[in-house]
Amino acid sequence: MAGGAGGVKGVKTVAVIGIGLIGGSILKGLKGKYKLVGLSRNPDTVNKAMEQGLITATSIGHADVIFICTPINKTIDTIKEVAKTARPGAIITDVASIKAPIMDFVSSMPEPINFIGGHPMAGTEHKGLEASFDSLFQGAKWVLTSKNQLLEEIIAALGAEVVIADPYKHDEAVALISHMPLFLSQALLSFVENHQNSSLALKLAASGFKSMTRLAYTNPELAEDMLSSNKKNVLRTLEEFIDDLDKKRDNYSQEK
Ligand code: NAP
Repeated sequence: MAGGAGGVKGVKTVAVIGIGLIGGSILKGLKGKYKLVGLSRNPDTVNKAMEQGLITATSIGHADVIFICTPINKTIDTIKEVAKTARPGAIITDVASIKAPIMDFVSSMPEPINFIGGHPMAGTEHKGLEASFDSLFQGAKWVLTSKNQLLEEIIAALGAEVVIADPYKHDEAVALISHMPLFLSQALLSFVENHQNSSLALKLAASGFKSMTRLAYTNPELAEDMLSSNKKNVLRTLEEFIDDLDKKRDNYSQEK
């Protein structure tokens, strides 16, 4: 990669590590706007990303901004690796659905890195490069743990809107609107599937039931990671919800 930190003069270099649904969608959305490089676990994925013209190289040493898009439970290990190869001053960010443990880890690193936590509020139940598409982030919110002009420009180029949030507040908020709903969707599906009337009920199930259980079909590794990494907040939010459901059930039973 010629041209040092910025690659081609004036054009910034963006690296993506973990070319799956989110990483692939970042690359597709930035294609033609930035110089793009990337790495993934599986050499076939890297070859496909090259063939599709999404990346031109696998070296991240000259990147100005590095997006870590590996699974949640691999994010900290990937940060450790990236810290060894990123150029000094490179902005390192991630997309993991949980922020506090990652930010706490980064704060504890003996050699400080230029890390800003991130979480795009967009996704699908599918996974991998094949499932990625260039408009995934259009109109979506994108959480950052602090402001940064270049990173915000790149996120704007993907069509998303930055929301700055404290990592702990973020984790509480996503428990409420993402992780608990995932748990409830899984619980509803399994309750119905195991119910004595399941045979006829599932035969009759249409779009309403599909909407209520769509999240239960989330990529299983991601679903497990989301629920285990934010367990404390999910459990607390569930308790509150169960109390509220009890009250609503009582009110409902008293209605005529
Ligand atoms: P994904 O489609 O499974 O992509 C993750 C990719 O990372 C895989 O395709 C895999 O690529 C690669 N990978 C796996 N282990 C790796 C490792 N140890 N080192 C390097 N690469 C590795 O999952 P995703 O949905 O994009 O999720 C990635 C991140 O996005 C997660 O942190 C998740 O919290 C976050 N996120 C997801 C959504 C969503 O709805 N899906 C929304 C917002 C944020 P290969 O095996 O092909 O190389």
